[in-house]
Amino acid sequence: MKLHEYQSKRIFARYGVPIPQGDVATTPEQARQIAARLGRRVVVKSQVLVGGRGKAGGIRLADDPDEAEKVADEILGMKIKGLTVKKVLLDEAADISKEIYLGIVIDRAQRRPVMMASAEGGVEIEEVARVTPERIFKITIDPFLGLQPFQGRELSYGIGLSKDLVRDFVKIAQSLYAAFAECDASLAEINPLVVTDEGKLMAVDGKMLLDDNALFRHFELAEMRDADEETAEEQEARRQGLSYVKLDGTIGCMVNGAGLAMATMDITKLHGGEPANFLDIGGGAQAEKVAAALRIILSDPNVKAVLFNIFGGITRCDEVARGILEALQEVPTEVPMVARLVGTNEEEGRQILAEAEMETAATLVEAAQKAVAAAQGER
Ligand code: GDP
Ligand code: MN
Repeated sequence: MKLHEYQSKRIFARYGVPIPQGDVATTPEQARQIAARLGRRVVVKSQVLVGGRGKAGGIRLADDPDEAEKVADEILGMKIKGLTVKKVLLDEAADISKEIYLGIVIDRAQRRPVMMASAEGGVEIEEVARVTPERIFKITIDPFLGLQPFQGRELSYGIGLSKDLVRDFVKIAQSLYAAFAECDASLAEINPLVVTDEGKLMAVDGKMLLDDNALFRHFELAEMRDADEETAEEQEARRQGLSYVKLDGTIGCMVNGAGLAMATMDITKLHGGEPANFLDIGGGAQAEKVAAALRIILSDPNVKAVLFNIFGGITRCDEVARGILEALQEVPTEVPMVARLVGTNEEEGRQILAEAEMETAATLVEAAQKAVAAAQGER
């Protein structure tokens, strides 16, 4: 789950990272009031869940409340990389003398968090990594020890920070790590962390990604979810407890079990097809859930065939078959379908589908071949 800049910065601040004073507005009038309250030059920042807002014109300075209102009016409703701006953050403008990058991600190979710092802040770090990788300094964090002060100092020397800022930098690095660890984040980033003209460090931008699998123990964070982050289908899938990822192919896949879903996609590709989605309906799925899953698959106009691959353990194949028919009554469709049902009550399941004149298959390979042929209109 992605957090907005203002949400990320508020979390960072709770752990001791200095951030500018500011507040969020959804109307130009509110923006004017916030700017008046701050009583000085402000920066008006679009809150959308993508990077590079500055370059896209979504970040602008305003000298007084009237200008803040005007600028907010222009930014609200703007489209940035396909997302409509619904909120703006108004922060006291910082007088920036230097922009630093500071971030933490999980290094899967090392199975540990890695903190990165660079004196080339402000720009996209991927670009720095590509062009001048030697300008990024990294340290690996032991999850049992946390970020050690000497590691923070090492990073600050690496990026050539002036001596009088090292203490504050280390404190910020430790605060950022505490936020990262306690919130179960997969990424926590300050870009830029600025040195102001008065020689103070401050987080001007903030970004956090949270591990969805840990949200059950962070109710307060889970509530921060921006509905716009997901498509209507993804939201529906989450409500129904389905794991769903949309892809670009033409063969809709409905499978129970994540491993089986991966295997189904592999076999589909092996036989010349492209999966339209990853969809795991989970164990013991009821007819209603199957129907919801089918609705989601069929709502994708790219889908030219649907492949069901169900292994009945706890899940009963007859229940799945009934779910499929239930869904087809609700959403009549011309899209051809192939079903492979194996395991508990497979006979009943297949019989139910055969009566509905649906194509069935005995093996996954056969099912994939039939689905690929059907998607290509060879049926
Ligand atoms: P991003 O483009 O989405 O990463 O948004 P940022 O919040 O990082 O802002 C982009 C750039 O705008 C920063 O790198 C700064 O150069 C500039 N910027 C942001 N806030 C301020 C501010 O308070 N004062 C000044 N002078 N520039 C700012
Ligand atoms: Mn930024």
